[in-house]
Amino acid sequence: MIMKLTLIGSGTSIPLSRQRCPCYLIETGMAKLLLDTGPGCLQTLQELTITYNDIDCLCYTHIHLDHIAALPWLLFIAKNAFHLRVKPLYIYGPKGIGSFYQKMLQLYESQINPTSFDVSVKELAEEAFSIKDVHISSIPVPHFNQCLAYRIENKNGYSIVYSGDTDYTEALSAFAADSDLLLLECAMPEGQKVNGHLIPSLAGKIAAEARAKKLIIIHRYPICNDKEICHIIKEIYSGTVVLAYDLMTFEI
Ligand SMILES: [Zn+2]
Ligand SMILES: [Zn+2]
Repeated sequence: MIMKLTLIGSGTSIPLSRQRCPCYLIETGMAKLLLDTGPGCLQTLQELTITYNDIDCLCYTHIHLDHIAALPWLLFIAKNAFHLRVKPLYIYGPKGIGSFYQKMLQLYESQINPTSFDVSVKELAEEAFSIKDVHISSIPVPHFNQCLAYRIENKNGYSIVYSGDTDYTEALSAFAADSDLLLLECAMPEGQKVNGHLIPSLAGKIAAEARAKKLIIIHRYPICNDKEICHIIKEIYSGTVVLAYDLMTFEI
């Protein structure tokens, strides 16, 4: 069974025309998952004829707004649009996602409080579980707040790893071992490292240590230079390097 990845938003908090805020769609034979829901993602999904009702599961890396801002919007239309959602919605995220959800409900109350479907919100650390025909695992990664990386595998063992926002950690290299697609952030250019994010040499190091088959570089701030990123990474990592832009698709 094929697993399909679509880059709905491959960028950062700064919206660019082909690099919108983070959101990644994974489709398997039975399930549709979103990894993060950055602002604007529902519009892009709609253009691909995928609606709020089609999504089974939301996996959040962390609660920075560029990664989660569309959640109340999704809940709002799921209960107020013409086609009410009825199937359950599973929401996963790092420690704190539960209180974030509760505070959101207090703020928006009946606007978003689901009545026609059940919502399950679960806080994850280092654990694994299954939704329909996909196996999902997570590990905490170093960022400003609680942040997770995810590994999504199908029944045939093909895997997609999404770093979320992260600094360098050997644990991520091990977690991404032998992944078919590695979505790895590279927020800053070489020589301008900031805490909690990667630069090209560290992204290349993780991809090489993980022996990832294909590296997809996401979450590049506008100060990054695409050519320079590729050049530096290719000196360290011998696999295929792809610079992410919205609406790219990958099938494994
Ligand atoms: Zn981010
Ligand atoms: Zn962040």
